[in-house]
Amino acid sequence: MLPYFDEIFGNASSNHLFGKQAKQAVDNAREHVAKIINAKAKEIVFTSGATEAINLGIKGYLQSNKNIGNHIITVKTEHKAVLSTCEYLESTGTDVTYLGVDKNGLISLKELKEAIRVDTLLICIMYVNNEIGVIQDIDAMGTIAKENNIAFFCDATQAVGKIPVKVEESNIDLLCLSAHKFNGPKGIGALYVKEGIKITPQIHGGSQENSLRAGTYNTPLIVGLGKACELALLELDSNYKKLKEKQVALEKHYQENNLGTINCKAANRAPHITSISLNNMEAEEYLMLNAKEMAISTGSACVSAIVEHSHVINELNVNSSKTIRISYL
Ligand code: PLP
Repeated sequence: MLPYFDEIFGNASSNHLFGKQAKQAVDNAREHVAKIINAKAKEIVFTSGATEAINLGIKGYLQSNKNIGNHIITVKTEHKAVLSTCEYLESTGTDVTYLGVDKNGLISLKELKEAIRVDTLLICIMYVNNEIGVIQDIDAMGTIAKENNIAFFCDATQAVGKIPVKVEESNIDLLCLSAHKFNGPKGIGALYVKEGIKITPQIHGGSQENSLRAGTYNTPLIVGLGKACELALLELDSNYKKLKEKQVALEKHYQENNLGTINCKAANRAPHITSISLNNMEAEEYLMLNAKEMAISTGSACVSAIVEHSHVINELNVNSSKTIRISYL
């Protein structure tokens, strides 16, 4: 990324020499982003991260496809970026069905099928949950969406760079990713928009990104995202193995020493996240005792002194005040 801050500082949209050098770097990064999800370079739209990609993908699809319907299906355990976007859309008249999950954090395919209505135009389901690491059966869900002519949006922020993600094979129409989840810089991500899928831009201005996302290219961050994708793809297998070994060892430690219960143990889980409900201690107390040795989080977020319990952990019917989330690097 460094040369793109001072040496190659041209605007990638400009036609002069400096601009062309920057454009080449942006094009190169786009190829790498496309490759990690098995997409085409022209299907990638750079954004400031997954949150923006989610807003663009969901709101943009709805606005462009009002003629199809006005009903979305999503899940109670999605990231706030998806849930808040859906809540906003509800306030503007869209109908949203929020599916529940079982004790392993999994969605029932039967319930998904039953939730489909004639006016359903979008299904939004995350690949890997950021709090419990559960991997949904994305292939089966993509098939259900396709069979019913419904677009499928997948929040793959916690999946890309950790497990194989293939948009074509999984029948995904819209997908978001974020560089900082796999060693890239913060503040850059992308939205995959399958060729032929129409979305309405949410930021108006210049004609960058096929007029889908206006604003001068942040070349250094885009280069960083591209490099992170290139490396993550090269190291996908070895990284998975390394993380899984750490996960297995640490989970064994908590279980054998009767310290806690691993949540969603029966589900297929990503290698970099473990959710544990402690047997004999509150999560806050545990964190304070281990603050010098571990950087882990609780199942709750503290916002201006109000402890907000995790909506994901609450859905599992386990005690969120005793739950910690461990992630592995
Ligand atoms: N979706 C999931 C599953 C996430 O884990 C995150 C980040 O924590 C986001 C969306 C939002 O990503 P960003 O911070 O890039 O906007």
